[in-house]
Amino acid sequence: MHTIRSVVTGGAGFLGSHLCERLLAEGHNVICIDNLLTGSVRNIENLAGIPAFRFIKSDVTNYIYVNEPVDYVFHFASPASPIDYLKFPIQTLKVGSLGTHKALGFAKAKRARFLLASTSEVYGDPEIHPQVEEYWGHVNPVGPRGVYDEAKRFAEAMTLAYHRFHGVETRIVRIFNTYGERMRIEDGRAIPAFVSQALRGEDMTVFGDGSQTRSVCYVTDLVDGIIRLMMSGYDMPVNIGNPDEISMLDLAKEIRDLTGSRSRIIFKDLPQDDPKVRQPNISKARSILGWEPQVRRNVGLAKTIHYFRDEIDGLAQRKSTMEQYATNSMKLPRNGEHT
Ligand code: NAD
Repeated sequence: MHTIRSVVTGGAGFLGSHLCERLLAEGHNVICIDNLLTGSVRNIENLAGIPAFRFIKSDVTNYIYVNEPVDYVFHFASPASPIDYLKFPIQTLKVGSLGTHKALGFAKAKRARFLLASTSEVYGDPEIHPQVEEYWGHVNPVGPRGVYDEAKRFAEAMTLAYHRFHGVETRIVRIFNTYGERMRIEDGRAIPAFVSQALRGEDMTVFGDGSQTRSVCYVTDLVDGIIRLMMSGYDMPVNIGNPDEISMLDLAKEIRDLTGSRSRIIFKDLPQDDPKVRQPNISKARSILGWEPQVRRNVGLAKTIHYFRDEIDGLAQRKSTMEQYATNSMKLPRNGEHT
């Protein structure tokens, strides 16, 4: 029987690691390529030892090399949170441009089908709401978010050029805000920030007056939509996200209630170019992929809170062990103190 082999670039990141897991469950052999810029081996440690899984530590902007035949390439490598792409602006532009070029060249050479993880950020600060795939966007190329938005817009153009000029089978998913286990506490996105502040009993920081809205999708729903898109015959961009819209202030309150925290909510200045509204129109995903989100927000948030509780307890435990070591080492006799 033919072994189905998938390559996931950025597979040690938040979304990529869930995707690797799901593909393995579907019976694929999975090769994860990641340079660990913003990802971590901790995200894939549960996959280590599975014979159908392999990890290659490599920067996809240099080259992508795999000896075996490959059927599917999922191109997820890219810093994704504003904190990350502001910290790594050049790497973000490079992985969106050079990295996408290398990943497409690799798919072409392997005669594999290619899927680009694009983003709702290609719509910028949208003038139409909710956003349909035909909307061209309202992006500031020289603003702080330009490094990410324009890299993804270039990546989409490059993907369609490979499709039209070289006949590579390509898919483009425009991912809207997604949350779930393995997000990083300090990645600056609203849900990890609210959850960790609530769990630690710290003030919860809402930007602006909190009336700006987001719609958040639980990670297993997103991964399901991505696999359906890859297996479909549709080559134009498709929005995948949860249209269930909520204001930032209500999201903070919902998280505070779910954690049982008594944190105060405080307000800070809105960052530059922060979109005011963001909501996917998912008619295409519904009609073409038969997809819509299944996980209700309170269920997804409860799982995420559970994960962060463990993370924060683990951090506290690691810290107290370190402190213990430090105290004990101070008690140890120093050179020459032995009696
Ligand atoms: P993440 O930072 O957790 O994962 C990205 C991974 O890419 C990391 O493991 C990082 O080390 C790796 N990477 C970065 N540059 C690389 C390079 N040059 N070579 C190899 N690996 C590299 O982010 P995420 O949230 O999992 O996002 C994954 C993808 O989904 C990104 O392309 C992002 O733009 C897209 N996306 C995510 C969201 C979201 O809500 N999380 C929304 C829209 C789009």
